[in-house]
Amino acid sequence: AIFATGEDGRVTYWNSGAERVLGWSEAEIVGQSIDVIFTPEDLATNAPAREIVTARTEGRAADERWHLRKDGSRVWASGSLMVMRDQRGEVAGYVKILRDQTAAREAHDALESSRQDLLEALEENKIARAEVEAASHAKDKFLAVLSHELRTPLTPILMAVGALEHLPDTPPLVSEALQMIRRNIGLEARFIDDLLDVTKITRGQLEIVREETDLHEVLDHAAAIVRSDLDERGQKLDLQLEARNVVLTGDRHRLQQVFWNLLKNASKFSPDQATIHLSSLNEDHSVAVRVRDSGFGIEPAELDRIFDPFTQENRDPGRKAGGLGLGLAIAKATIDAHGGTLRAESDGPGHGSSFIVTLPLNPEDSPRD
Ligand code: ADP
Repeated sequence: AIFATGEDGRVTYWNSGAERVLGWSEAEIVGQSIDVIFTPEDLATNAPAREIVTARTEGRAADERWHLRKDGSRVWASGSLMVMRDQRGEVAGYVKILRDQTAAREAHDALESSRQDLLEALEENKIARAEVEAASHAKDKFLAVLSHELRTPLTPILMAVGALEHLPDTPPLVSEALQMIRRNIGLEARFIDDLLDVTKITRGQLEIVREETDLHEVLDHAAAIVRSDLDERGQKLDLQLEARNVVLTGDRHRLQQVFWNLLKNASKFSPDQATIHLSSLNEDHSVAVRVRDSGFGIEPAELDRIFDPFTQENRDPGRKAGGLGLGLAIAKATIDAHGGTLRAESDGPGHGSSFIVTLPLNPEDSPRD
C-alpha cells in the first residue's frame, strides 16, 4: 500500500494497493484524516504524531503495528513514513508505504502461543515429576528408618534366646518354645534385612565386598543351606558344575544369598518330589550358572517384572509359602553390582523356569579362546 497525506494529516493520494490492504477506495478516503487507519490504542498514546516527529527529524520513520481496515478488522503491517518537501524545503506532506504482514504475524503468534503452551506443559510436567520424586524419596526414607528401627531390637532377642537354649535341664516345653521363638524371630529378621537391602539398592548404597571368590564354593554353600527345604518336600537337587574357571572378584556372602534365593524359589514354585537342576558352564571370560526347575513356570509377560521389588504373581501356588517379593530384586541388584547379568526364562505356566546368572571372571582365570 502506498498513500500520501498533507501536512494536516488528510489523505491526498491512495493507490490500489492501499485499497486492497486497508479496504477504503481512493474516492472514499481522500480528504479524510489518516487517523482512521490507526487503532484506538495507538491514537491514545499518540503513536501517529510520534512517527511524524521521527520522520521529520530523521527523514524517515519505520514501524510495525496493527492498523484498522475499513470494516474494523485489523491488519498487521510494517511501514515506512517519509517526509515530502516543496522546492523551498518546507514540509509539504508525508508518503507512507505499508506492507501487509498479517499472515506472517498470525503464524508467528500461533507459533509463539504453542511454544508458550509447550513451555507451560513442560513446567507442569517438571513440577509433577518433582512431586513424584519427593514422594518416592520420602517413602524410601520411611522404609529405611522403619526397617532399621524394626531390626534393632531383634538382635538382642536372638542372642538371649540362644543363651537360654544352652541352659541345662530345660523342660521340653520350654525348649520347644525357645526354638519356635528363635525360628520366627530369625524369619522376621531376614525379611527386615531384605527390606533394608532394597532401601539400600534404591538409594544406590548396596555395599559389595570385593575379594577373590571361588564360585563353586559359593554354590556348594547355597545348596547346603537349601537342602533342608528340599528334603522337607522330597525334592532332589541335580548338580552339574562343569565350569573349569570359577574364580572371580566378588562378595561371597551376597552371591551365596543370590543362589540360595534362586534355589529356594525353584523349590518353592515346584511340586513335591520335583528335581531342581543347578549347573555351571564357562563362556567367554565369564561363568554362567543356571538354576532350572520343572515347576509352575512364569507367564512371558512377567519375566522382566518379577525382578521389580514387591512383585509377586498372586495366583501361583507358591504364594502360600510367603515372601515379600524382594528376593529377585535384591539378587538382580547384587549381580548387576558384580558386572554380571541375571535373567529368567520360562515357556509359560506349567513349563518350569530357569534363572541364568552370568558373572565376569578374573582376567587371569578367563578360559583361553
Ligand atoms: P518371593 O519369592 O518372596 O515372592 P521373589 O522376588 O524371590 O519374591 O520372586 C518374585 C516372584 O517371581 C515370585 O513371587 C514368583 O511369582 C516369581 N518366581 C520367582 N522364582 C520363580 C520360579 N522358580 N518359578 C516360578 N515363579 C517364580
